[in-house]
Amino acid sequence: MEKQLRRLLAENEAQLARLEREHERMVEAAEGSNADDEHDPEGSTIAFEREQLTAALERTRRTGDELRTALAELADGRYGVCERCGRPIAPERLEARPQSRTCIDCARSAGN
Ligand SMILES: [Zn+2]
Repeated sequence: MEKQLRRLLAENEAQLARLEREHERMVEAAEGSNADDEHDPEGSTIAFEREQLTAALERTRRTGDELRTALAELADGRYGVCERCGRPIAPERLEARPQSRTCIDCARSAGN
């Protein structure tokens, strides 16, 4: 499991670096042009793309945090225990999503 978590974390960090570069480029492009968002027909598309990118960045950062937490838990033996009900998380669930924090029942009742 640790190997899998480390691999996912490496992938996550690579993805985050990619998204951050893209975000930087987008910010630079926006600064370089004097485009007026409200009157530029492309302005709203750019704003939408930037929003999407910001959301992806947030998601990726959150997943990275979850993976790091899972690795820390693995190190001190708290890994694989549901943070809501304290019961063990099913191995199939951990295999599908190693950074899971809750068991399937709690995840369902929480609506995610
Ligand atoms: Zn639970």
